[in-house]
Amino acid sequence: MKKVLILEDEINIRSFVVINLKRAGYEVIEAGTGQEALDKLREYPDIGVAILDIMLPDIDGFEVCRRIRATSKQMGVIMLTARTQEMDKVTGLMTGADDYVTKPFSPAELTARIDALFRRIGGDNAANAELLNQGPFVMNTRNHTLEKNGTRIKLTQVEYAILKLFMQNPGRALSREDILSAVWGRDYDGELKIVDVNIRRLRIKIEDDANNPTYITTVWGFGYKWGA
Ligand code: CA
Repeated sequence: MKKVLILEDEINIRSFVVINLKRAGYEVIEAGTGQEALDKLREYPDIGVAILDIMLPDIDGFEVCRRIRATSKQMGVIMLTARTQEMDKVTGLMTGADDYVTKPFSPAELTARIDALFRRIGGDNAANAELLNQGPFVMNTRNHTLEKNGTRIKLTQVEYAILKLFMQNPGRALSREDILSAVWGRDYDGELKIVDVNIRRLRIKIEDDANNPTYITTVWGFGYKWGA
């Protein structure tokens, strides 16, 4: 059964999430503090998606996300943000989260986001190994790895999905809407800003100079283009 960790110190919200995720067919692991979440993640290494509240009694959700990313690029991470804290979204994505859900949220919205992450994790397993070779980059679409000049670059699932889309469409201008629906799914109702934040992060990882990008170039007023 697919395992999901829910880190939330407010018991009412946590129980609400647990009941609904169980109903959706997930096995749910619960944590009420950041430290407890990190312990549970060690105890259950097959957790596929972690849902992290931000305001916690000990270490905050961003720090938990950073520590997850220090050891796993593969796990899906969804931040629970408060409606009033717009900056949380950007901070969460910059620390390596794949997605965020704003409180109050509906069970359907949360499970849709979790389902989408699990689809991405397992997405290419059945496909044959395929290497995309472009410029200094080699992407292996079976084990989701990227190398630049022979050196491994660690990507989150979302970054990988965006880069794969680029490498499958070299030289083609992709609108931010194209990228959003290809990577997050057609039903995703989030903001286009999430695309820009992820592109910024990708550039830091893959460009020679993130301030003067030559691989992912901006198409002003439209989107981005891959030019390796
Ligand atoms: Ca909280």
